Amino acid sequence: MAKKDYYEVLGVNRDATEADIKKAYRKLAMKWHPDRNPDNPKAEEHFKEAKEAYEVLTDAQKRAAYDQYGHAGVDPSAAGAGAGFGGFSDAFGDIFGDIFGGGGGGRQRSTVFRGADLRYNLEITLEDAARGSETRIRIPAMEECETCHGTGAKPGTQPSTCTTCGGHGQVRMQQGFFSIQQTCPRCHGTGKMVAHPCATCSGSGRVKKHKTLAVKIPAGVDEGDRIRLSGEGEAGVNGGPSGDLYVVIQIKRHSVFTRDHNDLHCEMPVSFTTAALGGEIEIPTLDGYAKIRIPAETQTGKIFRLRGKGIKGVRSSSHGDLLCHVVVETPVSLTAKQKELLQEFEALSNKDAARHNPRAKSWMDRVKEFFAE
Ligand SMILES: [Zn+2]
Ligand SMILES: [Zn+2]
Repeated sequence: MAKKDYYEVLGVNRDATEADIKKAYRKLAMKWHPDRNPDNPKAEEHFKEAKEAYEVLTDAQKRAAYDQYGHAGVDPSAAGAGAGFGGFSDAFGDIFGDIFGGGGGGRQRSTVFRGADLRYNLEITLEDAARGSETRIRIPAMEECETCHGTGAKPGTQPSTCTTCGGHGQVRMQQGFFSIQQTCPRCHGTGKMVAHPCATCSGSGRVKKHKTLAVKIPAGVDEGDRIRLSGEGEAGVNGGPSGDLYVVIQIKRHSVFTRDHNDLHCEMPVSFTTAALGGEIEIPTLDGYAKIRIPAETQTGKIFRLRGKGIKGVRSSSHGDLLCHVVVETPVSLTAKQKELLQEFEALSNKDAARHNPRAKSWMDRVKEFFAE
């Protein structure tokens, strides 16, 4: 379908001034605005056509290109993107900026922002994570200024509508073929200007405060779990809702246990003699001591699993286990007597090494085999 001439679309002469073009566009936009012509695709088409013509003819560079080369000089599809001429919502946003916002009449929308979400890193002990606990945290937060009730204006004065964005909080910037919506640089999106700023908040309407909150930590939480405190984030702007506060769990390093999901692991040093002869040793669990019977001839690396002595999952009802890793300890700082006994012991062991030290013996055999090949 051939495109209509932009001047024809707006019904202006080729030597029309920018003011003429604007005026013509406003008239057309009012007439064909989709709000006034619900379910009328033809109106939408006219509206878009007018908007496109307006955007080209009010941009000196593009207008010159159009005058010289026609549609080919400014065709947005030829440019490969055409973002500025995009869909309906785009056109919709612009109309308020150009017509209703600037003129001060009709609808005005100032930008409403939800407050930012906040993050609080809470370090807790493994015991608290396992059992659950309740704690209080003190957090900095931007809250509505009590002096001006969030308006930013000195008591007794009123903020006025921002003249740059007409109260929108957003402005459109034309960059080549692109029309970009940006937060208004003058009012930073609030849509308001404050002639006499409130002394308490310097006109921002918000002040930095601290608040103390109770946090309930459910039993079983793990590193990185987040607890959401709804609405406890930063206050919103222009009556927008507050953000949320996320308490992020960090678990302190424990002196005995390491955690792997719901299982706990711990090292269990066993004396050389106990490992050989067997015996009973006490090991710590999260709820007190437990006894483990060490069978005779226990080796390093053996794992004793205590069922249900781990952590109960926060999302499940199952308990993890406690896994005790045996480390046979070589005795140190030996006395002369101890050395003498061990040498005697060694001499006896060597008489039948294959029987008393099967691991060493089999290893030695493998080594020999390797060098014999
Ligand atoms: Zn204030
Ligand atoms: Zn503004």
